[in-house]
Amino acid sequence: MRPGKIVCIGQNYRAHIKELKSEVPSEPVIFLKPSSAQIADREEILIPPGLGRVDYEGELAVIVGRRAKNVTPKQALKHVGAAAVFNDVTARDVQSVARKAGLPWSLAKGMDTFAPMSEPTPIVEVPDLRALTVQTRLNGELRQDGRTADMIFPVEELIAYISKYMVLEPGDVIATGTPEGVGAIKGGDTVEISIKGVGRLTNPVKGP
Ligand code: MG
Repeated sequence: MRPGKIVCIGQNYRAHIKELKSEVPSEPVIFLKPSSAQIADREEILIPPGLGRVDYEGELAVIVGRRAKNVTPKQALKHVGAAAVFNDVTARDVQSVARKAGLPWSLAKGMDTFAPMSEPTPIVEVPDLRALTVQTRLNGELRQDGRTADMIFPVEELIAYISKYMVLEPGDVIATGTPEGVGAIKGGDTVEISIKGVGRLTNPVKGP
């Protein structure tokens, strides 16, 4: 079943902010992906022609289990039902043009197949959300090896912040940001993201 919404967090790891030559935010950076962009493990990421650079971004996602509105960080994790592995596929050149012009990133982030997500793992089976390792392999080569301990805003703070403004409903997905090591994908590649204790997500890439 598709989520009602996919809330994504941008710039939540210092080293990734550095590689994008961006600034550390004082509040979480929030954007949305349409749920129509979601695909499952093993499905193809389809890159339309003429986009320029398109990147993988390996991320931890949490899935809302219980409705959350105005929750405190202390209460927040009670509203998480599951965790999953997420790929925040990004048309980087399209995003850069939008950023420079001060325009929204929606197109760069929201294209069909740009939200691959693994099967969720019930949160009771997941180890400490602050002690996970997010690893991305491109064609078998390790490209990202990040620790959720390095998040600027941890999961409970993200949920509290989002729920002040947007109600979080069961099934909603929160993608918590990517560590450093993002890079380009092209047709014929395979992206594999794994988070020990959460799951594994493998998607072949089709396109130019
Ligand atoms: Mg991202």
